[in-house]
Amino acid sequence: RSFGYEEVEPEEKSAKVREVFRRVASRYDLMNDLMSGGIHRLWKEALLDWLAPRRGMHLVDVAGGTGDIAMRFLARVDGEARVTLCDINDAMLAVGRDRALDAGWLGEIDWVTGDAMALPFPDRSFDAYTIAFGIRNVTHLDKALAEARRVLRPGGRFLCLEFSRVVLPLLDRLYDAYSFNVVPLLGRLVARDEASYRYLVESIRRFPDQPAFAALLKDAGLEQVRWRNLSGGIAAIHSGWRL
Ligand code: SAM
Repeated sequence: RSFGYEEVEPEEKSAKVREVFRRVASRYDLMNDLMSGGIHRLWKEALLDWLAPRRGMHLVDVAGGTGDIAMRFLARVDGEARVTLCDINDAMLAVGRDRALDAGWLGEIDWVTGDAMALPFPDRSFDAYTIAFGIRNVTHLDKALAEARRVLRPGGRFLCLEFSRVVLPLLDRLYDAYSFNVVPLLGRLVARDEASYRYLVESIRRFPDQPAFAALLKDAGLEQVRWRNLSGGIAAIHSGWRL
């Protein structure tokens, strides 16, 4: 099934992604809770469980948006670590800064406007790299993965949380019905932006499934690649190491 969402050229894709997140920034957090029934919070906690933050760690959270991963990371080590939050979109970063100010984490986070495909950091800068619901938006996955490996120090950890392929027979049909009907409706009613939420559903369907994405991580030179399914594969976390 199609929404009439047009296939776009790579150059157009980044412009489109920028426009989508500029439009949705102010309602982004509310929409995440509404669309996932709050479950995105559990998925993000699962990412942090797997990361096992330590004091003194330096994390780069790419496509960090409004700061969910960065703030959860800091909460787990009582602020005794550093996060560099990098996102291509100033509107999302502005919402993130406001939230971090309210939560008392503003000083622990470096806010950087930058593209996952050309990270503005030197080689071997970070102990860990996370990207949550971000890599799907990137035009060239191979470039983003090569950049992830480049900025990790040897021994550094890569973790990606992303929508994936449902692996349970009944759930896949329910999930399709939900994605095609409820998500655009919520987009229309709450964010007053049906098109952006149609883009969301389409981008999830186009993203490689668990084994295919794992293969891309290996191609990028990441090692010991593994994944865990969340909620029957609605989302998955992929892990790899720069060794
Ligand atoms: N990580 C946050 C979370 O889990 O709530 C935000 C995820 S949001 C769905 C996707 C984010 O990716 C947006 O903030 C968007 O601006 C950012 N983004 C899209 N393309 C990007 C790129 N090429 N480089 C860096 N960030 C990008």
